[in-house]
Amino acid sequence: MNKKEKAQKKEKKKKLPLRRSASNITFALREVWHVSAAYFVIYYLVTLIYAPLDFLTDSFLLRMIVNKVEGNESITSIIVYIIVIASFAIAVDLLSGMYWRVISPGMYERISASIERKLFKKASSVELACYETPAFYDKYMKAMEGARDRIMRVMNTIDNLIWRTVTLLCNSFLLFFIDPVLIIFGLLPLLLGFVRRWQNRLNKKYYDEKKPIDRRVAYVRRTFYLNEYSKEMRIGGMYSRMLKELNHTYKDFKALMKRYGFRIAIANYIQRIGLEVVTILGAMFYAVWCTVYRGSMTIGDCIVILNSIGTISYCLNSLVQNFAEFGEHSLFLEDVRYFLDYEPKIKDEENAPVARYGDIELENVFFRYEGAEVDTLKGVSMKIKKGEHVALVGQNGSGKTTLVKLLLRLYDPTSGTVKMDGEDIKDYRLSTYRDSFNCVFQDFKVFSMSVKENVLLRRCDDSDDELVVSSLKESGAYDKIMSLDNGINSTLTREFDDNGANLSIGEQQKVSLARVFADSTPVVILDEPSSALDPIAEHKMFENMMRASKGSTVIFISHRLSSAVDADRIFLLENGEIAESGTHHELMQKKGKYEAMFTFQAQNYLGKEGEGNE
Ligand code: ADP
Repeated sequence: MNKKEKAQKKEKKKKLPLRRSASNITFALREVWHVSAAYFVIYYLVTLIYAPLDFLTDSFLLRMIVNKVEGNESITSIIVYIIVIASFAIAVDLLSGMYWRVISPGMYERISASIERKLFKKASSVELACYETPAFYDKYMKAMEGARDRIMRVMNTIDNLIWRTVTLLCNSFLLFFIDPVLIIFGLLPLLLGFVRRWQNRLNKKYYDEKKPIDRRVAYVRRTFYLNEYSKEMRIGGMYSRMLKELNHTYKDFKALMKRYGFRIAIANYIQRIGLEVVTILGAMFYAVWCTVYRGSMTIGDCIVILNSIGTISYCLNSLVQNFAEFGEHSLFLEDVRYFLDYEPKIKDEENAPVARYGDIELENVFFRYEGAEVDTLKGVSMKIKKGEHVALVGQNGSGKTTLVKLLLRLYDPTSGTVKMDGEDIKDYRLSTYRDSFNCVFQDFKVFSMSVKENVLLRRCDDSDDELVVSSLKESGAYDKIMSLDNGINSTLTREFDDNGANLSIGEQQKVSLARVFADSTPVVILDEPSSALDPIAEHKMFENMMRASKGSTVIFISHRLSSAVDADRIFLLENGEIAESGTHHELMQKKGKYEAMFTFQAQNYLGKEGEGNE
């Protein structure tokens, strides 16, 4: 077993102290209470009324009617009893039906939304490095996927606990009142506790081992039906490769069933025999014997016993199950709380000074990604003057995007300083600092919303149309967008709208670029802004961009060195270090690495031999 597996096993075995478990459960209850205390109270009040009523109509009324019939009492008094109890039951049923079917679903949504809002807020404030730490990311994913349901599952488990306890007490009192010996039959299933524990252990192991298989099956299935895999799945041998993978998973599943299936079935069987034969049949024989041979019980008692003994066993079983569920809820909520309590390392300090715009300076900056063995940036020092247009160039993996992420304070340097207007950027209020930037990332995303909203990245109305149109014209997306049925009001992607527009990657990139034209900020960062554009579109876009960003500092990364020619300064990164810097003219004169790369690419464009540096 390797280190990672040992750590995972340790994590799995982790048990929370009782106090922490209780605190996690109360955390969930507090969430509901804060959304609506009235809902919380009524939730359990309904159960507290309904459970005894259920017992009254189910067991008590039955016994009373049979006994009265047996005792030759007047039919009128029997009918009065039935009417009173039945009317009460109908009234409560009606009210609880309204509560569960009309009020509860809405409240469920409100409660889920409340916890989700907290999680989303936290998710947007944690630093990017958290997404790259597997242990953190696992907790984050789990919290995001399950927290919505979990809060209500805690409510539901407590509800079941109350219901079973009340039903158990009512039925036990009744049996005790009829004949105390009967309680022994009700308690018999508890003797099978060791079988239940065995069964729980088996089930847990089975589900733990099944999870990775399920994940693989889910992945393979996705490759068959998701659009993003559709092209690769149709070429080469990927289709049959994936089918083979699916077969593997079925084989793994069969092997798993072989290991656990039989034992789980035996454990279930023993439990059922224990419940149905020992308890229910045992109590039946005892009741029939008391009624027929000893004459110590009425027929009503006998019928009620047959009814109640099964209920008691069932309630005892469920209660054990409920306590196990608390353990599971608590472990899950521990992860949610870990995530919510996490203090971001890069924080938006309210009292920190508002960022000033000025020269950007990096002083001996080193940076290493979490878990990486080597530094990605190695002692980078550079100065970008206010209003300068600079290009970052270099081979893939040389550290250009990482440098930009540090400028945006998505990460902090491992050592060294990034300054804006002479001040360490860590000393500025984060939100005001980031407000100075407008960026288009290499892995840009468009949202399944209107073109308008995609450009302005906010809710917008008709008064924004002019700005959107001019930005789309500058980025080169205007003609395509206007050819869509609803122009700038068209929805992008078909996720939610059958008439949504599926734009090509290049067209999507132009829409993302329009964001920069729509919002003028002191600093503009463009990370491979033209990777999906053809050279003519790229050239035009750059011209427009430089015109629109006059006065702003522009930092752009491009693997096409032709777009760097007009930059005020070019920085060539190599292996996380600045290998060369200067204007295009200076660097060409130097006849160093830049000159070699430029000449190589130029030859490619002219159709001579050689391949691009990509
Ligand atoms: P460029 O933009 O020049 O192509 P990057 O800054 O994206 O280069 O990447 C520089 C190096 O850092 C690469 O070797 C890459 O594998 C590594 N890297 C990038 N992102 C991460 C990350 N999140 N975790 C670990 N290593 C990373």
